[in-house]
Amino acid sequence: MINRDGYTISLWQQHISAFPLGSTLQAHVYDVIIVGGGITGVTTAFLLQEAGFKCLLLEAANLGYGTTGGTTAHLNTLLDVSYETIGKNFGEQVARAVAVASANVIGFIEKMAQEYAIDCGFKTADAYQYAQNKEQDDALASQATAATNAGLDVGRVATLPLPLRCTSAIQVKGQAMFSPLPYLYELAKEFENIGGVILENTRVTNIEHKGKVEVTAGEHTFAGRKLVLATHIPPGINLLHLRCISYRSYAVAARLAQNDYPQDLYYDMEEPFHYIRSQEVDGEQYLIVGGEDHKTGHHENTNLCFRQLEAWVNKHFNVLEVTHRWSSQFYEPVDGLPYIGQLPGEEEDVYVATGFSGNGMIYGTIAALLLRDMLLGVLNELEMIFDPNRLKPIAGFSNFISHNADVAMQYVNKLLPAASLHLLADLAPGEGRVIKYESGKMAVYKDEGGELHSVSPVCTHLKCDVSWNSGEKSWDCPCHGARYNPDGQVLNCPATMALEPLHVAATVK
Ligand SMILES: Cc1cc2nc3c(=O)[nH]c(=O)nc-3n(C[C@H](O)[C@H](O)[C@H](O)COP(=O)(O)OP(=O)(O)OC[C@H]3O[C@@H](n4cnc5c(N)ncnc54)[C@H](O)[C@@H]3O)c2cc1C
Repeated sequence: MINRDGYTISLWQQHISAFPLGSTLQAHVYDVIIVGGGITGVTTAFLLQEAGFKCLLLEAANLGYGTTGGTTAHLNTLLDVSYETIGKNFGEQVARAVAVASANVIGFIEKMAQEYAIDCGFKTADAYQYAQNKEQDDALASQATAATNAGLDVGRVATLPLPLRCTSAIQVKGQAMFSPLPYLYELAKEFENIGGVILENTRVTNIEHKGKVEVTAGEHTFAGRKLVLATHIPPGINLLHLRCISYRSYAVAARLAQNDYPQDLYYDMEEPFHYIRSQEVDGEQYLIVGGEDHKTGHHENTNLCFRQLEAWVNKHFNVLEVTHRWSSQFYEPVDGLPYIGQLPGEEEDVYVATGFSGNGMIYGTIAALLLRDMLLGVLNELEMIFDPNRLKPIAGFSNFISHNADVAMQYVNKLLPAASLHLLADLAPGEGRVIKYESGKMAVYKDEGGELHSVSPVCTHLKCDVSWNSGEKSWDCPCHGARYNPDGQVLNCPATMALEPLHVAATVK
């Protein structure tokens, strides 16, 4: 099993062993330094090394530690942000280009799996999206028209292959699924086989420009002609933190009482929607259902999200046993499309790929292919579409305003309802809380052994107060999604520094 940026254990992380590093550090100067060992970073590193660049991949923890280890790995051209929305915000031509790029990526992943004999259970499938009332019927009808116009093979169906109640439904051909970590790890091995270097447990904490890009990571300093930040959201402070909203999404894996696992991908139209599929892992079939999304740090009881998701699964499937429960983070771009290309506000040699919504298997791979073309100087029509410096279309603006109003509220309304120190006594083992005292405040966690761990609740990114995530036992920032473990160590960007440690014993009588 490998580590992931949370307390819960995903189906994927449980079924993979630590990456057997095959490369050794021989140089401190590279053509391209790639930061982040998820699907975006590993695919980018592989493609650039293959194209002739000398590459170094730096990962803060272990490969698959981020959302790639906590995904559900649908490979779908039927994207979370509908083609109707993409068409409205960017025009139908862009919607068509995004549909083509998404379909190409599914073909690319299949080709990679075949070429390198990657045992990742890649399988093609159909997708079904279904409505359950009149309002959803109307929304589905117009989304289906837009998807058809974008080039997807969409058909109407009267019933679903699964016993799920619906008032209308569509079937979309040309989708797929796979196990993400075997794919990631094999690709990483191939990257090393062609001369690439990987360093795990190496968090980048500083970037400077001295002719080349210099990055500081632990005791090392590396230089590269180009730097790719494949960290899911860029570290530090950047305009893109205002253009991406961080969300948590929840997933469960279950064994069913009968062998009637869904063969395809399913999406309802609830808010937030549920996403369903199954996958064979190590000879065992699992149903995988996701949903219950909410903004990071905005849910008081994240354990409830798991319970609600599980209740939904039990209502719709004959479940023998829920085997895994996990949650993970994604980033929603305000205007509906990812940001891939040169990092705004930085020198031209720094690239970024973020804002993938719940489609990062697709967009992370699109990013890798696009970044390769950009670094090779090959013209690619997607460069303008995903340009992180693009002007914000009007349609995204209201979402932008409301997200940042939300963030502003977090700055002003610094604390949860006033709590006082005596509440520490009530803290159950495994629970955390932000406590206010006299002129200060602290984030306190009581571990299973009853020991208190206390840190400053002030996020080191932009100084919002973190809140406790009971499901993942982490301190989550409601403003830009930075996350920390109970001792304040960074789990997720954009923070690069730990929460300040505080000593409860010295403060509490
Ligand atoms: C519950 C859930 C279900 C999803 N399901 C799907 C799906 O079905 N299909 C789909 O296409 N997408 C899905 N997504 C989205 C998709 O999983 C993600 O968009 C994708 O995994 C992001 O990959 P990444 O490589 O960009 O980032 P990550 O996988 O998060 O990798 C980033 C890496 O960067 C490292 N890092 C961060 N900061 C630093 C630093 N300073 N120095 C060094 N390393 C650093 C991290 O440790 C991490 O390993 C889902 C997301 C969630 C939350």
